[in-house]
Amino acid sequence: MITGDSKALQHFLSGRIWPLEQLPFEQKMIEQVQRQGYLELFLAVEWLNNKPQCQRCFCPSSDAYIRYHCAKCDKICVYCRHCLNMGRLSSCDWLVRWIGPAVDAVVEPRFAWDGQFTEAQARVSRELIDSVKKRQSRLIHAVCGAGKTEILFAAIYEALTQNLRVCVATPRTDVVLELAPRFQQVFPNIDVQALYGGAEQKLSYSSFIVATTHQLLRFEDAFDVMFVDEADAFPYTFDATLQQAVQKARKKLGVTILVTATPDTATKLQYEKEAAYSFIPRRFHGYDLPVPRFESLWFYDKQLRMGRMPKKLARWLMGCEERGQPYLIFFSTIDLMEHAAALFSVPAVHAEDKERKEKVLALRSGEVAGLLTTTILERGITIPRVQVAVIGAESAIFTASALIQISGRVGRAQHEPTGDIVFFHHGVTRDMDVARREIKRLNAVVM
Ligand SMILES: [Zn+2]
Ligand SMILES: [Zn+2]
Repeated sequence: MITGDSKALQHFLSGRIWPLEQLPFEQKMIEQVQRQGYLELFLAVEWLNNKPQCQRCFCPSSDAYIRYHCAKCDKICVYCRHCLNMGRLSSCDWLVRWIGPAVDAVVEPRFAWDGQFTEAQARVSRELIDSVKKRQSRLIHAVCGAGKTEILFAAIYEALTQNLRVCVATPRTDVVLELAPRFQQVFPNIDVQALYGGAEQKLSYSSFIVATTHQLLRFEDAFDVMFVDEADAFPYTFDATLQQAVQKARKKLGVTILVTATPDTATKLQYEKEAAYSFIPRRFHGYDLPVPRFESLWFYDKQLRMGRMPKKLARWLMGCEERGQPYLIFFSTIDLMEHAAALFSVPAVHAEDKERKEKVLALRSGEVAGLLTTTILERGITIPRVQVAVIGAESAIFTASALIQISGRVGRAQHEPTGDIVFFHHGVTRDMDVARREIKRLNAVVM
């Protein structure tokens, strides 16, 4: 029988790996549970062929491991820099995992959603429920504005009803903050926990977690059903350790559901072959995706840095303001954006901006006419009637999938399903072409 102290630890630690010294429980309590044989301790940094390997993030790069004189053990120790922002893990630290009885968390979930589906949404929702039942992984390819969150509801309900543990992981904190309250509304008697850097630490067990992909590093063998939202989004694509984190956090026989608007071809083909590819080519309101226009803006970089507003850009801005349409202007770098900011009468946002949320709200409420932004707002943001311009669409950071996502900000509302998306450039790139061609192709799909 699991009671009292051991139950508290069981609930917190189930599916997690945690630094022993940072366990949010009293020492006496931890020792007692340890004596019961429910905890397994292992070194935070293991040595494989004389190379250090962090047991939390498995970072393979030897540059990530820093040797230092450790005050704790008065020796030369090594710590992992890669996952440092979750607290320093050194070679003399212990991690702990729960090896006692599994949590007996039978909750009859309530399901509070009765929205309407389009035909395509209904089909994919059924395919997803099937995947959960059959424990088959799946790729969901849903265009920007297809209403992909709603599609997950019924499959999550199925999983929770089967007493499975569910996680929705996404690369961005903004998306966690947006999704968690929505899920909480749909599953009112489930404790939906939101995990992201700086989130308040809850000790209770949750059968439904919404987390940044980064936070998954703290989990192991935890989830039966794992949804990975915007699976292609930066930094996910570029960080193999985060993909490994998804693998590690999932149970061996669990299911992974990738949800994205821009899958790469190889991934798509692989799932198609396994008959595990779901496709929603149209937005929920049935209108076409806005097709980007290309406009040359020669030497825009020099002009903006010299404090000169390029004429075409000025005309575009005036158009938006005259029609009273909110606008987003994407820049390739913070540096260029900050140089250009003085020319605009609207705020600028970037990843480290603490007032990011407030600024987006100000745009949504009409308090400001527009926003300057880096690629940080390329997805997950919906502003009714928004018009979008990309400055320097030829920059390497604007990959085809980033440009598709950015274009996907436009025309999302049912009552205003169109709008302008313009790529201002100093030369057309292949990625710009690929993005436009793909959008046209999606518009032409008949299902
Ligand atoms: Zn690490
Ligand atoms: Zn040490």
